[in-house]
Amino acid sequence: MRDLKIPEQRHPEKAKRKDNPQPKKPDWIRVRAPGGQGYADTRKIMREHKLVTVCEEASCPNVGECWSQGHATMMIMGEVCTRACSFCNIATGKPPEALDAFEPGRVADAVQKLGLNHVVITSVDRDDVEDGGAEHFAQTIRAIRHRSPGTTIEILTPDFIRCGPEALEKVVAARPDVFNHNLETVPGLYPEVRPGARYFHSLRLLQRVKEMDPSMFTKSGIMVGLGEDRQAVMQVMEDMRAADIDFLTIGQYLQPTPKHHAVDRFVHPDEFAGYEKAALGKGFLMVSATPLTRSSYHAGDDFARLRAAREAKLARA
Ligand code: SF4
Repeated sequence: MRDLKIPEQRHPEKAKRKDNPQPKKPDWIRVRAPGGQGYADTRKIMREHKLVTVCEEASCPNVGECWSQGHATMMIMGEVCTRACSFCNIATGKPPEALDAFEPGRVADAVQKLGLNHVVITSVDRDDVEDGGAEHFAQTIRAIRHRSPGTTIEILTPDFIRCGPEALEKVVAARPDVFNHNLETVPGLYPEVRPGARYFHSLRLLQRVKEMDPSMFTKSGIMVGLGEDRQAVMQVMEDMRAADIDFLTIGQYLQPTPKHHAVDRFVHPDEFAGYEKAALGKGFLMVSATPLTRSSYHAGDDFARLRAAREAKLARA
């Protein structure tokens, strides 16, 4: 029986890789330790509803802050991912179980109990499922809408690369408020960072969302510190704008274990501020670029700002 708490069993494909030393984090990467009543309450709701969170599975550094405010990002479709990205701490391999038909209802129940104004739902990749889990995503969106009609819904999806066009159409038809799909890194690093994915496929996925529903906000993000250079990051911004993406996130890559992709460097906060300024100049409605930025970090507040930014832009037009 596989024990996902043991690193070698979490990532069997990485077990024989050489260790990459984990450099000491700089002073600007300081996070609040998990604890307190709010954190405990969120944890209890997640456990009671048998829900998996990306906050825990990906060892997110912001879990202390987010959970103390009831903000957890639920990860649907199980805890084992069929891809093997070199940066990611989610367990990889063949998922042991089929999709759980009762999961959308449990997610909706947890969202209601947490009383969230805005929720982010993500998932593992399920290349073993014919539609990549598109219908499961759509059911989850509909279940949340039914139980919490005032809650805005952000989804962070897989790339549906092995599916026909109808998979994405199903998800968009369920009308999430924000459609997020992360490009993760610059195209030149895909073979080593995101080997199961294709840069232009991911970009086109986001462009298709906008073509299908121009009112839907689209969002994408990359990590820096993986070995990219500034010019490549600027090109990604150009590509994202060409695909009409509204919201860009950029955060520092942190290495979960010695078997994961090495941290090339820690990008200074001033450089992040430079990226933010450049991205706003290229026309993104919203940009979050700080060392601790993650796709779902402060997503609720950011959604309100995103909506306000679009209204201001329309008023100027
Ligand atoms: S930033 Fe996102 S993944 Fe990290 S703890 Fe917050 S909600 Fe969870």
